[in-house]
Amino acid sequence: TRRDNLLSFDKSAELIERNAQWMAGGVNSNFRLNISPTPLVFERGEGPWLYDADGNRLIDYYLGMGPMILGHKPQALVDAVKQEIEKGFLFAGQTAVEAEAARLVCELVPSAERMRFGCSGSEVDQAAIRLARAATGRKKIIKFEGHYHGWFDNVLWSTAPALNAAGPEDAPVPVAGSKGQLEETAETLVVLPWNNLELLTTRLAQGDIAGVIMEAAMCNAGAVHPAPGYLEGVRKACTQYGSILIFDEVITGFRLAAGGAQERFGVTPDLSTFGKAIANGFPVAAIAGRADLMDMFATGGVVHGGTYNAQPIAMAATAATLKSLKPSLYATLEERGGRLMAGFREIFAHAGVTAQVAGFPQIFHVAFGLENPARDYRDLARMDRAAYIAFTTALLRRGVRALERGAWFLSIDHTDSVIDETLLAVEDAVRELTASGT
Ligand code: PMP
Repeated sequence: TRRDNLLSFDKSAELIERNAQWMAGGVNSNFRLNISPTPLVFERGEGPWLYDADGNRLIDYYLGMGPMILGHKPQALVDAVKQEIEKGFLFAGQTAVEAEAARLVCELVPSAERMRFGCSGSEVDQAAIRLARAATGRKKIIKFEGHYHGWFDNVLWSTAPALNAAGPEDAPVPVAGSKGQLEETAETLVVLPWNNLELLTTRLAQGDIAGVIMEAAMCNAGAVHPAPGYLEGVRKACTQYGSILIFDEVITGFRLAAGGAQERFGVTPDLSTFGKAIANGFPVAAIAGRADLMDMFATGGVVHGGTYNAQPIAMAATAATLKSLKPSLYATLEERGGRLMAGFREIFAHAGVTAQVAGFPQIFHVAFGLENPARDYRDLARMDRAAYIAFTTALLRRGVRALERGAWFLSIDHTDSVIDETLLAVEDAVRELTASGT
């Protein structure tokens, strides 16, 4: 049913303003700031829905920025967590539940001979980079424009570069993501455009690269598939020139397939990192890969630590999540997400809106203003962000919450009727925007 009265978010706005006296900006992550019309305050989530402080029920396509592949508050996790919490919280020692979760990761992820848990994607990416340096005795890491590997100094480069400051396309200049970032860390990096095998191979051939880190399918700045043969070529070149290949599967892991992008594309990295969907909302991340590399944490003098690593309650959530990742779940996500993507394309075509709907049914990206599919970050950077923010704002007022940067995450609780409701809101929002000439 179509919505007549648009939602308001006044209470959220009021709370954010009040809370800003305690929390910087009224939020606890910079990526929750600058949301139109206001950052939101939530009371609870269930299935595909979030309930906010204004009493609105929103269909949620943020999904915690990716984790909630089973939807909000799935019963299997509630039960597992309740059972575990009765046993105590933290032991600074080992538990049965962490071993079970570890076994499941190794069973599901093709390249995971051995693994370790951490608490965030940012930190396990650091562990992978350290391991690559330790294993090769080399310093430099190759990263790609538009690929995000956490907020730490040595990787927060060229994640959303201002193109006028980013140098030539075939020889990008690293662009810092934050003030206060140690500039010297740029010297430990080589930034390249993604999906260009020739440039990468030429650089690897110099023989001084410790590791190559990439989102195996670009999902952060916008969803872009690896070009045919690209990942295979990267794999071959890394082996040839002795560099460690790291897939950052923090978004793609347990989402594109139970075994992540590496399963979907059939290419095996030396190391890979996971987060988000691994625990459906609990603060869990993992690094996994070749046993000889991973065992350097045990016997090779490479340090990896963390007070909260493998926290038992989070491990119970991890095991319960991983046990739920049946092939049928992915088939359903593919079908429903495919329907949603097709619905978008039809609505945009009908309304004469120029847009690219790209990626995967379970994580896709909508870019306004692009005539052709994007191949890398520089293509994506040309999208019409202002129009897209007007679109997500119009959607929010119609009860659909989607990320302003264009990503749409799907959960197994986004049923066909939820998708129908979403498409009605999209149709309506597009009508509003085209009528107002946005
Ligand atoms: N890598 C990728 C590909 C990510 O998408 C993210 C988070 N958006 C991270 C790393 C960092 O993870 P976290 O926010 O858990 O530190």
